Amino acid sequence: MNGLQATVRAIEDAGVRLRLYVPGYPVTDLAAALGCEISINEKVALEIALGGSATGQRSLVVVKQVGMNILADPLVISATHAIGSGVVVIVGDDLGPRGSQAEMDSRFYGPLSELPVLDPRSPAALYASVLEAYTLSEWLRIPVLVRVTARLLAASGPEIAARPSPGNAQRFERENWSLTARGRHQRHHDRIMAFAEEASESTTLNRIDISGNVGIIASGFPASLAESLSVSLLTLGYSYPLPVKLISRFMEGHRRILVAEEPEPFIESQLGASPKVRGKLSGHLPRGLLERSDIIRAIESLDSGPEKKPLDYESVALRGYASICEGCPFVSIFSALAGIDAPVAGDAGCAIRATREPFDSADVVYGLGSSVGVASGFAEKGIALIGDFAIAHTGLAGLINALWQKRDVLVIVLKNDVAAMTGCQAAPDLTGVLKALVPTRLLEMPLPVDEIGSVINEELKMPGPRAIVASGRCVKDKRGLPESRIAVKN
Ligand code: SF4
Repeated sequence: MNGLQATVRAIEDAGVRLRLYVPGYPVTDLAAALGCEISINEKVALEIALGGSATGQRSLVVVKQVGMNILADPLVISATHAIGSGVVVIVGDDLGPRGSQAEMDSRFYGPLSELPVLDPRSPAALYASVLEAYTLSEWLRIPVLVRVTARLLAASGPEIAARPSPGNAQRFERENWSLTARGRHQRHHDRIMAFAEEASESTTLNRIDISGNVGIIASGFPASLAESLSVSLLTLGYSYPLPVKLISRFMEGHRRILVAEEPEPFIESQLGASPKVRGKLSGHLPRGLLERSDIIRAIESLDSGPEKKPLDYESVALRGYASICEGCPFVSIFSALAGIDAPVAGDAGCAIRATREPFDSADVVYGLGSSVGVASGFAEKGIALIGDFAIAHTGLAGLINALWQKRDVLVIVLKNDVAAMTGCQAAPDLTGVLKALVPTRLLEMPLPVDEIGSVINEELKMPGPRAIVASGRCVKDKRGLPESRIAVKN
């Protein structure tokens, strides 16, 4: 049974019916296997989950690491405002990013939101972590994070026996309102995180193997890489809060400690400045993804200091990148933009593929839904090039702001009715909303490059925010018209 299958079994056994997600590597396949309902963005997904929880439903939110940045607002607030039934966020970190604009370590959302983070090492531990996360969430009435990675989801392990353990449908309790925000935060520090620390110390997810006077402290998938190396191994079930007493005892019994984790030195930086500790901060292990060979090399150099090698920054030329697909209906837009004298903000999605040769059609790209806001800030009238899923995700807020603050921006929506880069999940049709907000021209793609160029130049001469909705069928979209497509009418 692999990590993905173990997660599906755990969610079934936990009796979770309300399952939300936002697609993105490395969790798209997991969310599909779980039958999650797509949300336009991660904030909305968690808000739906919190509503479900308040009325007695266990709920699940599946997102990728950069999605945590969008989800952070309700996450941080729900930490101290309490919940009803269990809320678990499974977050997939894209390490050595394959499908993301940034590498992130989602475990940092543990201390930031003051919520527990479970960081399983194997499919069996993943199954047990999800069940424990629901128990902990309902006991402490807080959301709990479970961090996964692509390698953990793909890792194989033995068959897992089902252990059904549904919750008791507890609902939000209005007594919470007797405390102020400060009082709830005091309670959180004084009692709730104190209980979470006890859980972190006593959980059966922790494992200790003793062998010799060198010890590895590990969490997540690197713990499985660190097995059978003829040194002691402390595998942590929780990355946050850490089981500090357990770690202290382990450290006292060993001459040297290596911390194996990825991608950042999250645990290592919580261990204080002990001269015993080696890891990523000390330079004994590389930042980012770890391999077993990295850990072996680090053990061999624990006393002699880290091996110093110049780092070759990964280049696009070395790794390659996915360009625009042959037959893409929007290719003439990408070509036309290269000849337009205006700054262009691209967006996460297919627009980002046109940033490089042969198109060079977008100047900057910051994140999903960002292009409208970014283009609104250009010194001269510029263009936001955005997909239809991205404008629903967060781009629409940028357009509303541009309208309100009378900012000049031309928004070109690549409307293919799907989130093409993540597997052609249905995207909502916001054409009616755009038409209600700003002057909007509709184009049916494909069209010749010069015709597109003329339309864009005409629109750039007009004041205020304006939109072009260019509709075309993505060559990757093999489905019939999606039944689940949401028509948002103005
Ligand atoms: S995935 Fe679809 S929309 Fe994106 S570049 Fe390829 S054909 Fe065009």
